[in-house]
Amino acid sequence: MLMQGKRVLICGVANDHSIAWSIAQRLHAEGAELAFSYPNDSIEKRVRPLAESLGSSLVLPCDVGSDAEIDALFAELGEHWDGLDGLVHSIAFASRDELKGRFIDTTRDGFRLALDVSAYSLVALTRRAEPLLASRRGAVLTLTYFGAEKVLPNYNVMGIAKAALESSVRYLAPDLGAAGVRVNALSAGPMRTLSSAGISGFKTMLHHHAERAPLRRNTTGDDVAGTAVYLLSDLSGGVTGEVVHVDGGYNILGM
Ligand code: NAD
Repeated sequence: MLMQGKRVLICGVANDHSIAWSIAQRLHAEGAELAFSYPNDSIEKRVRPLAESLGSSLVLPCDVGSDAEIDALFAELGEHWDGLDGLVHSIAFASRDELKGRFIDTTRDGFRLALDVSAYSLVALTRRAEPLLASRRGAVLTLTYFGAEKVLPNYNVMGIAKAALESSVRYLAPDLGAAGVRVNALSAGPMRTLSSAGISGFKTMLHHHAERAPLRRNTTGDDVAGTAVYLLSDLSGGVTGEVVHVDGGYNILGM
């Protein structure tokens, strides 16, 4: 088993459709011990039973918009675990109004919120996790999307947030690399989840992707989970600062 004896904190399970949940299940199957975070009471109600189904009772609050909550998360985690082998950041948010219409109409508040929750949160979480990760030469993984690289209808400010996230992965890599800690991003094809439901015209994106991607199908939770295990395990020991596409090859297309 690739993750036997390894401890991973998963931030971003909202329900059993979440990408982070697919990753959690595969990590568990590979022997990992898991902890989970949730941003509010209503998400906690869904996350706690899911975590328990994988034998995890370490389920801690953390809204990543609050430095105090991030501090509290790692203070509490440090009480239970003396090190961390993996940190999964599977978090993004933009207000629904920003995910439709013209990008030029993005509001200052909408821009700030999307970039804060979807990109800065990786930096903030990784900084607090650094001592725990360094003690075990752990790995950080975040989830991104092709909208960081190319213009896609309605993705708007989230594309800018993902570009900042991917660049943050590259800037974090040398900071953490001195301690043998790796940081990578996984760029997943479109998948039906709570977050993607907020993107106007998302069904059309799914349909288009399945028709045009070299593999002629949509990306699955299993597709993403397999690569996530690779990026969090020793199999990818020489890989850092990368964005790995798990999208059936869609990103290679010109036309
Ligand atoms: P999801 O809604 O299941 O997950 C998003 C998570 O972000 C939720 O668990 C939510 O609680 C969390 N979150 C939002 N605001 C937060 C805050 N302030 N503090 C803490 N947590 C907060 O949807 P998903 O599709 O699984 O999204 C996970 C990641 O995958 C996101 O970064 C998303 O952009 C990315 N992604 C999704 C797709 C897709 O098509 N679904 C494709 C590529 C990348």
